[in-house]
Amino acid sequence: MPLDLAHIPIVDGHCHSLLRQQPLGEDGFRLHLTESYHPAMAEHVPHSLLYRWTLRELAELFGCDPTPDAIHAARRERGLEWITRTVVERGNFRTWLIDTGFDTGSTLSLDDLRRIAPCRIEEVVRLEPLIERLILEADGFDGFLDAYRASLANLRSRGIVGLKSIIAYRSGLAIEPVGRDAAGRAFSSVHDDAKRRGTLRIGSKPLLDHLIVLAVEESARQGVPIQFHTGLGDPDLDLTMVDPAALRIIFADRFRAAPIVLLHTGYPYVRSLAYLAAMFPNVYADMGEAILFAAGEATEITRELVGLAPASKILFSTDASLVPELYWVGARLGRRALARVLDEHIAEGALDERTALDWAEMILWRNSERVYGL
Ligand SMILES: [Zn+2]
Repeated sequence: MPLDLAHIPIVDGHCHSLLRQQPLGEDGFRLHLTESYHPAMAEHVPHSLLYRWTLRELAELFGCDPTPDAIHAARRERGLEWITRTVVERGNFRTWLIDTGFDTGSTLSLDDLRRIAPCRIEEVVRLEPLIERLILEADGFDGFLDAYRASLANLRSRGIVGLKSIIAYRSGLAIEPVGRDAAGRAFSSVHDDAKRRGTLRIGSKPLLDHLIVLAVEESARQGVPIQFHTGLGDPDLDLTMVDPAALRIIFADRFRAAPIVLLHTGYPYVRSLAYLAAMFPNVYADMGEAILFAAGEATEITRELVGLAPASKILFSTDASLVPELYWVGARLGRRALARVLDEHIAEGALDERTALDWAEMILWRNSERVYGL
């Protein structure tokens, strides 16, 4: 009998809030099944395995035919609250760690989300939007740095269980040591430009490198994890700058007390990610995002992670965002892929069933409870 992991709860270590106004039909919904922002990609989405899995899994969730018409009729009839509650209960989610730095204008606040999702909900703070806001508010570099340090202080007592950086999609993961003077000079030109425009999307490599290293130091001081996006994600990324192996300066001994969680499986650099998690005691491999968006490879990705990294170093997430159905599809595909890989190793004789279930529990929830101090 194949392993069934449905009874093992999930701590979702990387996920996002939900749109207050849900898409009501196929056209709006379909856009959430691609990472591309190009509207012309919408016509290609139905020819992807994520789309085919989504039809199948939502038919199961709603008890309807696996057709877009039947599924969208069911979505409209049940509504956001029913769907969210049902996804949490049937998906057996224990906790969602919500990145609050994404689409905050149109999504539910954490309190609103807590009202409809019957699981524990905790906050992860995305650094780049915080940095952008503080630069726009600042008069000079010294004042900015004081405000930045203050916003990183005493994280747990303020209900924050993790930090997160998207530097991969801005100036890349090859962070270099940048002194305060060089960072100050970079700040001046970024600050002038931001004040003139009244808005900022920070991409200055010296400034970001300096500030993200400060955040890693704070993570080490407080033992609060810092997450890095690696591999696939934003559509404007440069795929040559997102290999997690490029993060090497933060794998140094002086940051060893910082729990570092590398997100998105590093896809396509999955083996880089597995290697880093296998080498450095404080580095963890998060298996989210690619399980969804590379749905046809979910088993291969899981096989590569488990193939090298210890089960105690792998964390589960969906990277679901905006529509609650993605949580359901992510949980179903993730548990299925993990069960298939563990089954392979049981069949080979490397694992007995009890050990396999123990590993599944570690990956699906116990590791995250420990790493994030939940
Ligand atoms: Zn993500």
